Amino acid sequence: MSKATDYLQHVYSVIEKRDPNQPEFLEAIHDFFQTMTPVFEKHPEYIDENILERLTEPERVIQFRVPWLDDLGNSQVNRGFRVQFNSAIGPYKGGLRFHPSVNLSIVKFLGFEQIFKNALTGLPIGGGKGGSDFDPKGKSDNEIMRFCQSFMTELSKYIGLDTDVPAGDIGVGGREIGYLYGQYKRLRGSDRGVLTGKGLTYGGSLARTEATGFGLAYYTEEMLKANNSDFAGKKVVVSGAGNVAIYAIQKVTELGGKVITCSDSNGYIVDENGIDLDIVKQIKEVERGRISEYADRVSSGEYHEGSVWDAKLSYDIALPCATQNEISGEQAKLLVENGVKAVAEGANMPSDTEAIKEYQNAELLYGPAKAANAGGVAVSALEMSQNSMRLSWSFEEVDDRLKDIMKDIFAQSVKAADEYGVSGDYLSGANIAGFTKVADTMIIQGLV
Ligand code: NDP
Repeated sequence: MSKATDYLQHVYSVIEKRDPNQPEFLEAIHDFFQTMTPVFEKHPEYIDENILERLTEPERVIQFRVPWLDDLGNSQVNRGFRVQFNSAIGPYKGGLRFHPSVNLSIVKFLGFEQIFKNALTGLPIGGGKGGSDFDPKGKSDNEIMRFCQSFMTELSKYIGLDTDVPAGDIGVGGREIGYLYGQYKRLRGSDRGVLTGKGLTYGGSLARTEATGFGLAYYTEEMLKANNSDFAGKKVVVSGAGNVAIYAIQKVTELGGKVITCSDSNGYIVDENGIDLDIVKQIKEVERGRISEYADRVSSGEYHEGSVWDAKLSYDIALPCATQNEISGEQAKLLVENGVKAVAEGANMPSDTEAIKEYQNAELLYGPAKAANAGGVAVSALEMSQNSMRLSWSFEEVDDRLKDIMKDIFAQSVKAADEYGVSGDYLSGANIAGFTKVADTMIIQGLV
């Protein structure tokens, strides 16, 4: 065994021993370490600095009680988290997720991924993530507001425009950010730069809502172009029907692809005529309804219960945009049988370890989450810049910057993969490019 693989195995076993009950965190670390051997072979100084053990331990973990009153006057209690993972290259930055599945393992996996994603954007932001096991589904607006106010009452003690700047994620969109910011302002005064994803009337950036989905489409287009292909005439399967999925569908369609599915946690729609996005937006953004309603309104739309990744359909490109581990090894095999040539991840860690192996065996083009979905956080950082300058850029200006950033992320991944002898492996390329930037910065800053 080489010194590099020995070191990687040693650090993994330390983490496993420390946090045996954090499966998602361990999975993210495992998949990341799988791509690190060439880096540690080339740079033994990272081993001398014990950089991986330092990087995998968050700088700070905050867990807190969130008490709130439901509409019947009963007191409810949820658990809140903020993991401030790494501030080497800038203030902690990363979303808040409200979903019943949220626990420390999930917040840590998301925070860990965020460090390298943020580094890839080229903007000065460190990595963090947070959230709560609160379930917004079925709650009234007043209940959402009371929960957000209680959550922010505690979180406000730990965030700030130069220290930690949260944003949205699953279950946290414009409505929640509005309530969170309102409470922050009452407690600490008007500091617009403390949250991103804000409404346009109080410091939000144009194109932030669209950024993750649009960015995913731009990244995928770069990946296709580099392999003598494009979206024109391609059939695309998208999972999810939330913020990322909706704007991925919009941009892919504009770029000439035909998106034939979308989904939620109950089931999926297949519409061979191409998904009618106005209907999806009406159901999901305005009515906050279920995706099954699409089939009642569009005659070519069929609704099926279960996962879209179990569907036997013929298509070219897969864009998972729902949640972690939505594609297993078996489902990845089916995806290959279905004729898929490219997968790019809008969601964080949507493909489990076995699924990634299947993509690699089948030599699919594979755009990993931390590169492909970095558009959201990139535009969040642009929102911070606009807030600091007290300026608002036009939609086109932000969109152009987003396009450039996504192209640059792809180029960095290609370059790192070439440099470390794994050409065409965009997963390794993204991990290596993000890692070396953060690791070098940490070393420059001393033992911190
Ligand atoms: P939303 O809450 O807007 O939408 C999430 C969508 O995924 C919904 O359709 C939801 O269905 C579905 N979904 C959630 N959990 C599950 C599950 N366990 N099984 C099946 N479907 C599920 O979230 P976003 O669109 O913002 O986020 C989607 C993914 O993209 C997440 O992985 C997030 O971390 C990632 N991401 C988001 C960014 C952003 O800017 N928003 C930035 C980068 C990554 P249902 O309504 O039934 O729950």
